[in-house]
Amino acid sequence: MNYKAPRGTHDIFGETALGLNLLEQKAKEIFIRHGFEEVRTPMFEEAALFARSIGQATDIVEKEMYVFEDKKKRKFALRPEGTTSLARAFVEHRMDISSPACKFFYLGEMFRYERPQAGRYRQFRQIGAEIYASSSPAADAEIIILAREVLSSLDIDKINIHINSLGCGKCRPFFREALVEYFSSVEDLCEECLRRLEKNPLRLLDCKIDSCKLTDLPKMLDYLCHDCKDNFYMVQFLLKKASCNFTVNGKLVRGLDYYTRTVFEVRSDAVGSQDAIAAGGRYDNLIKEIGGQNTPAVGFAVGAERVLLAAQSVGFFKNLKSPEKIFVAIADQEFFSEAFAFAVKITRDGINGNKDISVFGPINGKSLTNQLKFANKIHVSKVIVFAKTEFENGKVLIKNMKDKKQTEIELNKL
Ligand SMILES: [Zn+2]
Ligand SMILES: [Zn+2]
Repeated sequence: MNYKAPRGTHDIFGETALGLNLLEQKAKEIFIRHGFEEVRTPMFEEAALFARSIGQATDIVEKEMYVFEDKKKRKFALRPEGTTSLARAFVEHRMDISSPACKFFYLGEMFRYERPQAGRYRQFRQIGAEIYASSSPAADAEIIILAREVLSSLDIDKINIHINSLGCGKCRPFFREALVEYFSSVEDLCEECLRRLEKNPLRLLDCKIDSCKLTDLPKMLDYLCHDCKDNFYMVQFLLKKASCNFTVNGKLVRGLDYYTRTVFEVRSDAVGSQDAIAAGGRYDNLIKEIGGQNTPAVGFAVGAERVLLAAQSVGFFKNLKSPEKIFVAIADQEFFSEAFAFAVKITRDGINGNKDISVFGPINGKSLTNQLKFANKIHVSKVIVFAKTEFENGKVLIKNMKDKKQTEIELNKL
């Protein structure tokens, strides 16, 4: 029988596993430095929660969710993104009381039924952070700066940050109206756009077929109310102060309905300039929408797979330092148990204080030649040999595999 990983999923091993670990570790360090706390939520939630938060008429909810019924006919969905689950947890546990700073991060698997392509999977990993209970533009700016820091920790520095404001409940309806009016007079809209015109006019700006060939599109920035304008100005001012480069992109909308005011995307030529490797924005109504108190919020997420693609293309993995590999060998079978105990000891305590090592061997029942062949195959840098004459003097041989030099050293000095 030939079993394969389901279409759109992938096994993570070797360099990718190393890279993923490193990305997660660096992101965690950055989040903690910025005062964020980790939250882990379940991988599935009531399906209705996502429809409510992301929006019934979005691609994610309409076409891409993995929805299933459990044995009691309850309808669940594998989480398609992290923001909604975290918001649900925030409301359920009144986390504004237990963690008054209201800064949280998450990392984990997300699921969307999409057409698989480079860096896009049906099971993928996102790393994200959210700031609740702050409507200050400083929170928007900090979130955008965080996204940039996470990327540059993997040497992804050539990025373009696109920002836009989607306005608020007061001013957005006028923009919506202007969009509908504008697009109603456009002939030959694609099928998708005809639907959007009725259900979700903002997404018309997202269409790769129609909106790019049109000129003089209405711009949200022309419709912003006084408060939204001030807010957006302040976000830009703070970003400039913190030397964070960005471009204002009036066409930027996101595929989720919950966004208000600031939205942003980080793009990198390394993975195709159209695709975002990080994105986020403000969503001041979501918490209330799912049953919480009125709580402004802003956040972002990076797609780990796409970030790793970008990291690979800037050569990040070539500079990775891996632990020193050490092989414990025996010249004589009678030393197996001694060598075994020694390998256990250095694995635990390190060797001469160095714990950044990977220890292999000893192998029972193989000639020294065969053991050395194996050591070569796995590219070890040192072989420690237990041999009769030396061992009787309390010593072992150390073979440097690069220059082939051999030295003796007292066992109790290792
Ligand atoms: Zn407004
Ligand atoms: Zn279209």
